[in-house]
Amino acid sequence: METAYSIKASRIFPMTGKVLENHWINVASTIIESLSLKPAFDKRLELPEKTVIIPALVNAHTHLELSQLKVPLDVPMRKMSGWVKTLLAFRRSAEYNAPLAIQSALQCLQNNIVSNNTLQSTAALGDIVPPNIEPLPVLPVSLPPSASLCPCWLAFVEWIGWRKDQIPDGNLKSWQYGVSPHAPQTLCPALLEKAVRMNVPVAMHLAETEEELQLLRSGTGPLLEMMRLADADYEPAQTLLGKRPLDYLQLLAQAPKAFIIHGNYLDDEELRFLAGHRETMSVVYCPRSHHYFRHKQYPLRKMLDYGVRVLLGTDSAASVPDIDLTNEIRFAAALHRNVPVEALYRSAALSGAEAFGLTDCGKIAAGYRAVFGVLY
Ligand SMILES: [Zn+2]
Repeated sequence: METAYSIKASRIFPMTGKVLENHWINVASTIIESLSLKPAFDKRLELPEKTVIIPALVNAHTHLELSQLKVPLDVPMRKMSGWVKTLLAFRRSAEYNAPLAIQSALQCLQNNIVSNNTLQSTAALGDIVPPNIEPLPVLPVSLPPSASLCPCWLAFVEWIGWRKDQIPDGNLKSWQYGVSPHAPQTLCPALLEKAVRMNVPVAMHLAETEEELQLLRSGTGPLLEMMRLADADYEPAQTLLGKRPLDYLQLLAQAPKAFIIHGNYLDDEELRFLAGHRETMSVVYCPRSHHYFRHKQYPLRKMLDYGVRVLLGTDSAASVPDIDLTNEIRFAAALHRNVPVEALYRSAALSGAEAFGLTDCGKIAAGYRAVFGVLY
């Protein structure tokens, strides 16, 4: 919707204080001008009863390269090792085309914004991209804090290498936002240290499964078997940085921004560590993907109580049916009855904007961009 207009919803969560009921948001030239009980402009849009408006959504973790999958991978017992095997087979198939998948997904989100008059909008995505791809230039890239494009595509280039000779060169391309050292089992310490030394944002899968904790603790278990299938000479003692996720957190804390993907099995000490570093470190919870993998209950309430900055992500089409963050909010709200829904809205919008340094998103207030998340 162009020019000036006013939009009304039953409830607005501006993230600046209390909830506003039956207020209008007045927008001029895509920027919020004011909030009021009466509309400031003639052009008006009144959303249906019970509709909630929150600031634009920040999907903090996804893998758009897999967006061509129509349904999540069908894997017995949803075991991670079987899932990875199926995923690698898909990546080798003729159907897989990472640049096209990324382009289509971003285009779809952008069309959604245009066709829905700035509603249901994803302001930004933290996306893990494979190395050695060049996305088709469908969207010009703008990086924070001047991220005026919607959606703002924040691409972390994925690094995998459990042997020193697998370490890639270390320069980011202009369209890349950060680096994603993949996960403890697929990284040697030198690679992780190099990622942190690059002094750019990092996103790492950590404490994702109980099998990962077992591998860290004792160098045994299903993840060892999985890695030995890929590399018969795989040696946990030479690959792993330490005995527990905390060893990784301490190193990642040296990066300017660190996104801990999943963190499903972080212990109390690790959560306190993250809370103590909340200005630069965030955890990304992916509710439906977490459910898909049948993990133990996510310690969301505890994380928030400790003061950890929790963001929301969808994860990929390999474990969820769509990349719509509003569906993650609804799912998490039904699952975590002990967490106020406003805390989920905050995780999905303001916390994400703050974590990625998107200074013109995250709040519904004068001067902020008029892009909104809408829950019907
Ligand atoms: Zn992931």
